Amino acid sequence: MTAIPRFILTSFLMLGVLACACGCSIGRENLSRHEYTQIIMGVEARIVLYSKNEPTAKRAARAAFDRMNDLDAVLSDYRSDSELMRVCQTTGDPPIRVSTDLFRVLIQAHEIATLSNGAFDPSIGPVVQLWREARRTGERPSRAATADAMSRVGWSKITLDSQERTVQLAVPNMQLDLGGIGKGFAVDEAIAVLIEAGITRCLVDLGGDIAAGDPPPGKNAWTVAVTSNPRHTDVIRIPLRRMGIATSADTEQFVQIGGERYSHIIDPRTGLPLTNRIAVTVIAPDATTADALASAISVLGPDDGLALLESFPFSWARIVLQTDEGPRIVQSADFPAPIDTEVR
Ligand code: ADP
Ligand code: MG
Repeated sequence: MTAIPRFILTSFLMLGVLACACGCSIGRENLSRHEYTQIIMGVEARIVLYSKNEPTAKRAARAAFDRMNDLDAVLSDYRSDSELMRVCQTTGDPPIRVSTDLFRVLIQAHEIATLSNGAFDPSIGPVVQLWREARRTGERPSRAATADAMSRVGWSKITLDSQERTVQLAVPNMQLDLGGIGKGFAVDEAIAVLIEAGITRCLVDLGGDIAAGDPPPGKNAWTVAVTSNPRHTDVIRIPLRRMGIATSADTEQFVQIGGERYSHIIDPRTGLPLTNRIAVTVIAPDATTADALASAISVLGPDDGLALLESFPFSWARIVLQTDEGPRIVQSADFPAPIDTEVR
């Protein structure tokens, strides 16, 4: 998940979600606002929290950043020494015992893979690698290379044993990729660390994947700005508390070859990247779910995507499709009303 060039892109073309803590710095609880940033997983990680004093705020933020950095060391497919990559060295071998963190992410990834009928697929790694190479060379992968990669893809080739906390990857040279879920998991875990440290009014943003705790003092919710394009021409402000939000889009990560724009999201049914210019924002009870669902719904498109949400209580999506006639927006009937247009 760590890619320095990606951070550079993100800082200019911030897709999806830009969060801002709005409102007062001191409420009746006598809390003050503190904000900290750090680069984690190749993107800007931002923590906004309300605390009685600065030392407490700093200590809590440091612990939350540490937690996210530790998770990068577990989940990254950019770091050859990550636990994930070590597990991928054992393809075709007997089951291997893994850390609780890796197991928890794999269980959630597997569950969303099952419910989305493989639209979200944590085993998509071989195809993702092919297209990362294509970004470097500017050449489309051959049909043979795609077929070879696809022979190693399939979430049903991953066997998880909850009793033993083991993972088995059935086919040699499989490659797991948790890029579509890891950032969501990291922000959820960062919020858990902050709450453990006594900070309940907090928000953690990792490159646009956001988990919100309790709102700022005197407010009903955090205000999160969502946009589907790099020029931020369609920003809407969404109220968020004790929920997660994530956006998947091809605005920052894509490759242009032969006049076609290929997204970093792969359709596991075809082994090809999306080319349909879709941006999906999902709100869910936790950011892990929101993150994975945003990728799944991007693959499924509006109809099947919104149908998938029926399996996920308290989850909503907003889908922006770029068409020749301009953007077409499809969203869950009860997607939260943007703050500016909220009827009071
Ligand atoms: P971002 O990391 O930009 O927030 P997403 O959350 O949308 O992006 O996840 C995209 C990443 O997920 C890709 O870069 C790749 O690592 C991985 N991925 C691509 N296609 C799929 C898929 N169909 N299912 C699961 N993960 C995918
Ligand atoms: Mg995602």
